[in-house]
Amino acid sequence: MPRKIAYGENSAKDFEYPENSLIITTTTPDIYEKWLSYMGIKNYEIYDKVTPDPAIETIEEIKKKYEGKQISTYIGLGGGSSMDVCKYLSKLTGIPKILIPTTFGTGAEMTTYAVVSFNHKKKLLQDEAFLADTAIVDPYFLPGTPFNIMRNSACDAMAQASEGYDSKLGNPLTSLFCKEAFDILEDAIMNDKPELLPYGAMLSGIGFGNSSTTLGHALSYVFSNEGVPHGYSLSSCTTVAHKFNKSPYYERFKKVCQKLKFEPLKLKQPLDQAADVIMPDRGHLDNNPIDVTKQDIVKCLGEIVNSNPLI
Ligand SMILES: [Zn+2]
Repeated sequence: MPRKIAYGENSAKDFEYPENSLIITTTTPDIYEKWLSYMGIKNYEIYDKVTPDPAIETIEEIKKKYEGKQISTYIGLGGGSSMDVCKYLSKLTGIPKILIPTTFGTGAEMTTYAVVSFNHKKKLLQDEAFLADTAIVDPYFLPGTPFNIMRNSACDAMAQASEGYDSKLGNPLTSLFCKEAFDILEDAIMNDKPELLPYGAMLSGIGFGNSSTTLGHALSYVFSNEGVPHGYSLSSCTTVAHKFNKSPYYERFKKVCQKLKFEPLKLKQPLDQAADVIMPDRGHLDNNPIDVTKQDIVKCLGEIVNSNPLI
């Protein structure tokens, strides 16, 4: 876990930010200017050209652009992509980082994981150097989040909590966090209490961040490589993976996806070819509670694209 966690209403407002920080965000000035004035941050640089599923080239470009500018701290302000860029940059330069999620789902502010694209392929990386020095989780950023982003983020957090619960790397402590996260997130969606999402996503990050996600996430990357948002692709992928694994969360996860009205997924590439892309993803597959063969992957993909697994 990050050494310092500031949580709750006004936590981003009350925090004392270091001078000469570099803020990294995916959002546009009309939105982040409001955020920055709430945070009361002064004397900063800002880089706002990060796009979803950030590429290594973007990270190298930022590194070059701010070299010699005496940047004291990176501040990742936004969704998973802004935070992942910060994590990788900080590993390259050794400059500390503060991570502030504004959509609540990836739990990236709590984990040692980062997803970065190399040659247009998303790659999951893990490094102790990716851990935030400070994480700030403030529900202030929640209102105004578009429905699509909210539901994709919630789906990601629930997939992470339940896959993390089932992971071979889990232990009683990670299971405790994953279970509590799932209960809270399920309550948030099923009973229309979005204000619970930041806390649920944070607990999910602590839980899966110390165990790992599994088959559902492994299956999802071939869909995100074709442009489907991460959380969206997990609605079907994690449902089918939970069925395959006989997960205790299969029915509950599916019910939440039904409530969020996710549609079935399509895949352009042949299933066999997609399975070849998924099989080397040992970081996810080796931690799956049941061994997975290439035939199993093809079968799971078939279920995802040829039937509607959410019915
Ligand atoms: Zn995820």
